[in-house]
Amino acid sequence: MTLPAPLPGAQLGDDGPLLDRFGRAHTYLRVSVTDRCNFRCTYCLPEDGLTWKPRDTLLTFEEIVRLASVFHGLGVRRVRLTGGEPLLRSDLHVLVRMLANLGFDDLSLTTNGHRLVEDAPRLAEAGLTRVNVSCDAIDPVVFSRMTRGGDVRRVLQGIDAARAAGLTPIKVNAVMVEGENDDAPLALLEHFAPYAADTIVRFIESMPFERAARPALPGSRVRALLATRYRLQPIGGGDGGPAVDWRVVETGQRVGFVSPMTEHFCERCNRLRLEADGHLRTCLSRDETPPLRELLRANASDDALARAIRGMVWGKVAGHEAHLGTAFEGVMTRIGG
Ligand code: SAM
Ligand code: SF4
Repeated sequence: MTLPAPLPGAQLGDDGPLLDRFGRAHTYLRVSVTDRCNFRCTYCLPEDGLTWKPRDTLLTFEEIVRLASVFHGLGVRRVRLTGGEPLLRSDLHVLVRMLANLGFDDLSLTTNGHRLVEDAPRLAEAGLTRVNVSCDAIDPVVFSRMTRGGDVRRVLQGIDAARAAGLTPIKVNAVMVEGENDDAPLALLEHFAPYAADTIVRFIESMPFERAARPALPGSRVRALLATRYRLQPIGGGDGGPAVDWRVVETGQRVGFVSPMTEHFCERCNRLRLEADGHLRTCLSRDETPPLRELLRANASDDALARAIRGMVWGKVAGHEAHLGTAFEGVMTRIGG
């Protein structure tokens, strides 16, 4: 696996695309709106939970929108709201409406789905374009064990509600953990087969965060399992993100594989993460930047914010080395997956 090399002679500019030293342009921002969660997924949170961040350290809706508008000016075109569990943030639809007014090409949400039945209609009405919903297994016992108490029936109802509200295409994210949900892929694929037109199942290798590391089940093993019953054909291109897409010949379904452990994609990374407290996380694996919150609360101008962001992105690391056994710093619920 190779990481990108710095471009010879590259210099930090003050206009044009949001580039790093490796020539990667950043057009996609994930915004974590809370570090809290109502689940305790084994690969994400420690069993005894976390001390949640004090509320006054979290960015307000106005602060998030201010930063989002600066990112928009720097060429970011897609925004995804995440967490923690973003639907635990009160009145999230109000933030969605404010962000929708900024005119991003795509404004989406990643959720565990527990509250989607109630929230999907007003999120769609506020201008959300689509959702990703996490669902690691259809079997209620396996699901409850992996989420430490989640109810898969509610999540599946939530996915139906999102589809009914037009929040499509829906991506169903299954994090694959060796020894926990190895048997889940066929049932997941088959459950969503009737919705091939607007629902894509994606199998994600578990990444090793410091306090919740679990062994990844490699994407190649999931494909081999699916191939015991179905014919799979690679689809070129994918959606421009880290997923590599395949087609299931018999059902016409598109199925995605996100394989950070076995198929490095750092060289095409175009994403940035704004943590709930205003840290800009330029690489999922490391935390190296000061919070933008301080600048915001010191009344920095848009130009000063833009310069600070350009400097942080310029300093982005080449990539992660989790395949060599290096754990990712921090906790996923704080970073925003
Ligand atoms: N609570 C929401 C959810 O679960 O969809 C949003 C936040 S969650 C941190 C975002 C995504 O990160 C989810 O798809 C989740 O499955 C994924 N995720 C969490 N921990 C992970 C890990 N260790 N490795 C890979 N993906 C992980
Ligand atoms: Fe919560 Fe999502 Fe993490 Fe599960 S993956 S503990 S639902 S933030």
